[in-house]
Amino acid sequence: MTWAIVLCRFRDVQQVTEPTQFFVNYFTVAGAGTGGAYDYWNDLSYGTFSNSSQVFGWFDIPHDASEIRDPVTGAPRLSRAIYQQWGFDAARSNGIDLSAFPRRVFFFNANGDHGDAGGGTSVFSYAPGRQLEPTFIFHEMGHTLGLQHSFSDAPAGCCGSGTAGEYCDGWDIMSAMCVFQFPGPFGTSGPGLSVPYLLQLGWMLGGRVHQIFTTTTIDLIALNHPELGGSMAAQYNYVDASSGRARSYAVEVRVPDGWDRAIPNAAVLIHRIEDGRSVLVGWGRGGRPNLDWQPGDVFNDVANGLSISILGIDSPQRRATVAISPGPVAGGGMLWAATTDNRLWVRGPIESNVNWQEVGHANNVAAMAALNGKLWAATTDNRLWVREPIESNVNWQEVGHANNVAAMTGVQ
Ligand SMILES: [Zn+2]
Repeated sequence: MTWAIVLCRFRDVQQVTEPTQFFVNYFTVAGAGTGGAYDYWNDLSYGTFSNSSQVFGWFDIPHDASEIRDPVTGAPRLSRAIYQQWGFDAARSNGIDLSAFPRRVFFFNANGDHGDAGGGTSVFSYAPGRQLEPTFIFHEMGHTLGLQHSFSDAPAGCCGSGTAGEYCDGWDIMSAMCVFQFPGPFGTSGPGLSVPYLLQLGWMLGGRVHQIFTTTTIDLIALNHPELGGSMAAQYNYVDASSGRARSYAVEVRVPDGWDRAIPNAAVLIHRIEDGRSVLVGWGRGGRPNLDWQPGDVFNDVANGLSISILGIDSPQRRATVAISPGPVAGGGMLWAATTDNRLWVRGPIESNVNWQEVGHANNVAAMAALNGKLWAATTDNRLWVREPIESNVNWQEVGHANNVAAMTGVQ
């Protein structure tokens, strides 16, 4: 049992949004293959989500449409948190036992405030003739499955959110309407879900998530093409150096077809699973407004000693090759270099020609070494300096002298 869909007709609106059979096809197995909500969840779960939803109604309810929305100004009058009760009431008075269903969708035939109502209930209010918005409907149904919003690592929210990063993952349905949508047969639709929430729902296929423990070069297939065989994601679990909390990175490949047909290009995405949230990482890079990763790009989490290099994307073959290098300790596992133009660089110890990332300054360095979780440098003016091995342009601290140094190393 999954969703009970209860169709509620207002006393003063005789016309229904769509006939009952439309909703039977849209939400239940009866409409499999027609591109409705049933197909969406079936496809995203790789067919593992047993969906025996049922549609009830239309039921006449003892309320007028004007109770939820001002007929003149169009302004909402009643929160869905209040009028969701009318769906429960309609089911009860028509002998429907909703306790047999873990989740509910209440559909009303007039416009009003609608969306997730909490507790596994969604409210949708569409007047006759108004086109449905599958992207919105799938998002709200995602909430009834226990998913929260998706985020990015941006310092500000998207689509008006005041919460950092909220709704900023255009590749994931849990960023609401701030996502890559296509005009589907029932209205604006897509995209799919990213790996963090597929993992949360238990939908990633067994053995298809490659767990990273050591430096690994791996081929990944596109998330919506399980038939290709091979790994569908790479996951690296770690204890975050700054918060001390257990976290993960998940690496996935997306291609523009199926529910993802509106995404702008084939891409590697890197998500951090952070306190149950899906956080798309990669904000702030030039030429990557969608926060995706392309061949030659390198993601470094220096504090946690992780480096992910995108070695190639084969769009026609719907796969990509990435190299992932987890450091043995926080801040470790990376190569550091100081250059003659006084810049400090870092890269993962991946045996491939990946890019270095600039992380700060390093003036007049003659030699550099790593020891005790710090970077040490001797400069041409015979001074010894130390700094934290973090991805930030912090100052070096002078700690003594180091005369005429030509080479330096640290011994643990
Ligand atoms: Zn939402």
